[in-house]
Amino acid sequence: MFKKILIANRGEIALRIQRACRELGVKAVMVYSEADRDAKYVKLAEESVCIGPAASALSYLNMPALISAAEVTDAEAIHPGYGFLSENANFAERVEQSGFQFIGPTPESIRIMGDKVSAKQAMIKAGVPCVPGSEGELPDDAVQIRSIAKKIGYPVIIKAAGGGGGRGMRVVHTEAALINAVQMTKAEAGAAFGNPAVYMEKFLQNPRHIEIQILADKHKNAVYLGERDCSMQRRHQKILEEAPAPGIPRKLIEKIGDRCVAACKKIGYRGAGTFEFLFENGEFYFIEMNTRVQVEHPVTEWITGVDIVKTQIMVAAGEKLPFTQRQIEIRGHAIECRINAEDAYKFTPSPGRITMWHPPGGPGVRVDSHVYTNYFVPPNYDSMIGKIIVHGDTREQAMARMRTALAETVVEGISTNIPLHRELMVDAKFMDGGTNIHYLESWLEQHKR
Ligand code: ADP
Repeated sequence: MFKKILIANRGEIALRIQRACRELGVKAVMVYSEADRDAKYVKLAEESVCIGPAASALSYLNMPALISAAEVTDAEAIHPGYGFLSENANFAERVEQSGFQFIGPTPESIRIMGDKVSAKQAMIKAGVPCVPGSEGELPDDAVQIRSIAKKIGYPVIIKAAGGGGGRGMRVVHTEAALINAVQMTKAEAGAAFGNPAVYMEKFLQNPRHIEIQILADKHKNAVYLGERDCSMQRRHQKILEEAPAPGIPRKLIEKIGDRCVAACKKIGYRGAGTFEFLFENGEFYFIEMNTRVQVEHPVTEWITGVDIVKTQIMVAAGEKLPFTQRQIEIRGHAIECRINAEDAYKFTPSPGRITMWHPPGGPGVRVDSHVYTNYFVPPNYDSMIGKIIVHGDTREQAMARMRTALAETVVEGISTNIPLHRELMVDAKFMDGGTNIHYLESWLEQHKR
C-alpha cells in the first residue's frame, strides 16, 4: 500500500478521498487554490500545498503545479477525483513519467474511451451493444452522409467524437436539415474540443439513462457493482440518481453487467469505471464510458457495501480486488440528491457565504459535503456543494427517508436546489419510478414560475 498520496481535486470529492485515505492508513496531501484556502479538508489535512490562484486553469488544471506538489511532499500516487484532469490522458501520462502512480486506468485506456468514436468501436469489438449509427467518423461526402442517415432512419443525432458535458450534439429530423447540421456540429466541435470529427447515431426518443459501475485490478479481475438510474437530468446534467434502477429485471442487468466485465478484461482496464447506456424498450445501448469515480458513486456503495474510493486506491497500489462477482449482493435501495448552490427553478448560480448549514442525520442518511456554517462558496467552480444520500430496505423507505432528510436540512445565506428536490420526492411519476431522460425538463416546463 502507498504511504502517501496527493489528492488533485477540491470540494466534496477531495474530502471523500481524504476519508478513504484515513481508513486505509495512507497519508493524504491536499492541494488548494487561493479561493479554497479555508476548505474543511485543508484544515483537516496533515499536509497541504497551495497550487495557484482561484482560476482552475492556473490551479486544479495546472499539471506542473500538481506534479511539483507531489514531488515536494514525497507522495507516491495521485488521485484525480472527477472533473478537472481526471480524464486527461496527457496528465495520466505525465504523472507516470514523473514516477508517480496515477490512481485510474492507463493513459491508453483513457485515450481510447475519451474519443467517443474509438470508444464505440472498442465496445462493438468487445460485444457491448451500442446505439445503431455510423461506422466511425462521418465522411465529408454529402451523398455518403445522406445514405448513412437513410440506413439508420430519422431522427438521427450528430455527436462530436471529442464531446463531453452534454455539449456538441444536434438532433436531425429530416434529410433537408442533415448536411447543414453536420457542418455546424463539426465547426462547433472543432472550436470547443479541438477535434472536428463527428459521428451519427439513431436518436432514441424516450430512453432512460442507466449506467453500470465496474471495478478492475491489475491482475485481470473485474466485477460490476450493479446499475444506477440517472435519468433525472437537466441539459444532460444529472441532478438525482438511484440504485437499483426501478423496474428493470435483474436478468437484463446481469447480462449487460457480464458484457461490461468482459469488455474490461478485453481492453485491459484497471480501476473504477462506468459504462453509460441508454435503455429503451428493454434494450441497452452503450453511449460512453467514464474512466474515473463518479459523483453518484455513493448509491452503489450503499447497495453493495463496497467502498469504491478505497478500492480504487488499493488496486492502483497493485492489490487484487478483495471480492469476486459472486460475493457482490444488492441490498435495498439508495437515492442521492445533488445539492447545488443555485436558484432552484431558474438555475442561476448562487455563490456566497453560507450563514447556516445544518445537515440531516438519522438512520440510513449519509451526507458528503465539504461545507460548514460560515463557509464561502467560491464563484469559480461547479455549483455542487454536497450530496445527500439515503438508503432503505425498499424504494418506498428510501424515498421516505429522503423526504425527512430534505425537510431537516437548513442552508441559509445562499440559494440551493433543495426546494426542487423536495417537490420531486413527492411527484407521482417519480414515485412510480422509471421516468425517462426528458421527464425533468418537461416537469420544469409545466411548473414554470
Ligand atoms: P456527454 O459526454 O456530453 O455527457 P453522452 O454521449 O454521454 O454525452 O450523452 C449525454 C446525454 O445526451 C445522454 O444521457 C442522453 O440524454 C443524450 N443522448 C446522447 N446520445 C443520444 C441518442 N443516440 N439518442 C437520444 N439521446 C441521446
